[in-house]
Amino acid sequence: MPLFAILTLFPEALDAYTRASILGLAQEKGLARVLLVDFRDFARDRHRTVDDRPFGGGPGMVLKPEPIVECVEWLERRHGRFRRLLMCPTGAPFRQQRAEELAREERILLLCGRYEGFDARVKKALDFEEISVGDYVLSGGELPALTVVEAVTRLLPGVLGDERSAHEDSFREEGVLDHPHYTRPRVFRGEAVPEALLSGDHALIRTWRENEARRRTRARAEITGLGASTPNTTNEDEPQRLRNEPCT
Ligand code: SAH
Repeated sequence: MPLFAILTLFPEALDAYTRASILGLAQEKGLARVLLVDFRDFARDRHRTVDDRPFGGGPGMVLKPEPIVECVEWLERRHGRFRRLLMCPTGAPFRQQRAEELAREERILLLCGRYEGFDARVKKALDFEEISVGDYVLSGGELPALTVVEAVTRLLPGVLGDERSAHEDSFREEGVLDHPHYTRPRVFRGEAVPEALLSGDHALIRTWRENEARRRTRARAEITGLGASTPNTTNEDEPQRLRNEPCT
């Protein structure tokens, strides 16, 4: 059963989310385990300090390396070596293919930053992979860490009610998107459910869905200017700069 350790200064902000819905059920069923670890507990001083002013001046505070590194070392003594991910807006973009690869790991550690981010030596000391959930800046790595944990968990066998759900999702084979879905009522505000879906003819339904999936994939490719297969680009294809640059 995969173990996710989320290192955060705000475990209470993640607690309810990790216990709700699919992620909560996955834990109840013993298919995954999420451990929330407050790395402030590894601060040595009376004030439990985890951040300090930046050398060279400037605004904001920087996360100190010692509590983080000691926290990771403590966790690895208890559980063994983790795949170590550091949440960072300048990291490698998180994509479905990375989620699929991570779903094969036994232990994943996700480090959440705050303030201006981490002292650059954290990445080096522990050989972290930097992961970004998008080209925008959030106030902390908690939502990105939950994003990764959720994307990975739903791929684990037995987690989704029906195994087919994950296989038919967007971004799986060749970056093809999912088809549109409809449920009752048959007519909603003048819009009827497409005839094909009501026909009971499985071949017709399959063709309709394939065509719609292709149409959506092309339409999105036009908007984003990316080819249909781009969402599955491997991280090895990321520019070297993205992989080597220390996180700010
Ligand atoms: N000074 C940094 C931003 C720090 S934001 C910069 O400009 O690059 C504070 C923390 O939020 C980061 O350390 C990171 O852990 C998290 N974070 C913010 N945006 C993120 C994103 N898009 N992806 C992953 N983590 C992010």
